[in-house]
Amino acid sequence: MPLSDIVENGLCVGCGLCRSMAALGAVDMVMTPEGRERPIAQQVLDKQMLMRINAVCPGTRIVGPPPAQTNGAALMDTIWGPAERLVLGCAGDSAVRFRGSGGGVLTALGQFMLSSGRVNFILHVAASRSAPMRSEQRLSFDASSVLESAGSRYGPAASLVGIGEILDRGEPFAMIAKPCDVTAVRNLARLDPRIDEHMRYALAFFCGGVSDLTRSEQVLRRFGLHEDELTLFRYRGHGNPGLNRIETRDGRAFELTYCQLWEDEDKWMIPPRCKICPDGIGQVADIAVSDAWLNGGPTIEDEPLNCIVVRTKRGLDLVEAAAEADALAIKRETSFCELSELQSHLLRKRRAVWARLKGMVIAGKPVPAVTDLALEDCALQNSRTDNLSEARGARDRARHGRLSEPPPGRVAAAKPC
Ligand SMILES: Cc1cc2nc3c(=O)[nH]c(=O)nc-3n(C[C@H](O)[C@H](O)[C@H](O)COP(=O)(O)OP(=O)(O)OC[C@H]3O[C@@H](n4cnc5c(N)ncnc54)[C@H](O)[C@@H]3O)c2cc1C
Ligand code: SF4
Ligand code: SF4
Repeated sequence: MPLSDIVENGLCVGCGLCRSMAALGAVDMVMTPEGRERPIAQQVLDKQMLMRINAVCPGTRIVGPPPAQTNGAALMDTIWGPAERLVLGCAGDSAVRFRGSGGGVLTALGQFMLSSGRVNFILHVAASRSAPMRSEQRLSFDASSVLESAGSRYGPAASLVGIGEILDRGEPFAMIAKPCDVTAVRNLARLDPRIDEHMRYALAFFCGGVSDLTRSEQVLRRFGLHEDELTLFRYRGHGNPGLNRIETRDGRAFELTYCQLWEDEDKWMIPPRCKICPDGIGQVADIAVSDAWLNGGPTIEDEPLNCIVVRTKRGLDLVEAAAEADALAIKRETSFCELSELQSHLLRKRRAVWARLKGMVIAGKPVPAVTDLALEDCALQNSRTDNLSEARGARDRARHGRLSEPPPGRVAAAKPC
């Protein structure tokens, strides 16, 4: 598919990998009027380049863990995938626990990978220093930079722009990112051996979907603010979940609770690709980390805590070494059953996606090629009625254009980001 078709068919999630693959200046990432970062070809991409992009794009190709990993895993669940260990835990350091989104586990692991000499830098994202409501790629070479980047960035974040230059450094690194970003990099590893050579670890967080930047703009409007007044836009962290906090140049501060920020699910404003995401749970990461609100949800401030799904043996070594060095504090073992309670929205999505994709196909829409993610088995846990309703719903939404995105011409008119 040409890039414009990937975008228009609602398959793009804005990772920026296609821009990295194409010649310099051939693909731009732009912020669309909907508040999504999307690629636009600035010149005709030849067939070979398009085939390479289609092979790596996480909108067109989503591959799960290799069967050898799934079959040999210590723990296995149809919905939640393979695991070597499942624990609840948090960062060992109190400042990291506080600043982190949940329990600061990803930040603690990022810092530990650097301090133990396992990697030279962490590829992740952080709030833009010049426009703090926006998120941008960050390479962290020290603990303070990893800590500065702590916290969930719910808006668009093109984590994989410039991956070619990152690999050209020839240094060991780790990535912390959304599951679809990890999928993209694993796809790229099939074409570019430098990924397996230099990327020592891939860590992901569980992900229910990115929100459009326009969702954050709505928050500003609520307080009568303009983006250029901001010095801080923190979605959460500084507690678990912590407050959405906005600070302005003239010293004012505004706060919303997590529930006030996300109160109405219909207004989450997530792109079509997230609604059909077959793997929001980081099955191809070495470690996937989720929220763990043991008191039933984010309605109150909870203890700093994450669920840590250790997917691979490499991830297991890392978690155990980090716990040994007190970078991580393990609270207790957990189970897939508890995970289902803590992450019921992702359980429902895993069960729904197979039927949603069928509905899109019936509507004549292209869908990603998905393999090794047990989608049909997940759907079998649904009743026939539920699957029919998911398929019909997706078919109708696709027919009415609600799983599509505006054409690239309109995107081209948007301000470059
Ligand atoms: C869009 C989005 C959706 C999410 N949905 C869920 C969900 O459905 N269920 C759930 O349990 N948890 C979800 N989370 C994850 C959750 O908010 C926590 O990030 C996770 O539990 C890890 O907590 P932590 O304390 O270890 O993170 P921290 O220690 O604060 O570290 C977070 C790390 O993630 C990186 N990061 C943050 N945002 C992004 C981004 N947009 N793209 C790439 N990297 C990023 C940061 O650079 C940082 O390194 C979501 C997060 C995001 C950003
Ligand atoms: S998902 Fe990533 S690789 Fe695919 S079209 Fe969008 S930005 Fe490009
Ligand atoms: S829901 Fe899936 S596609 Fe959307 S941002 Fe999360 S991992 Fe990526």
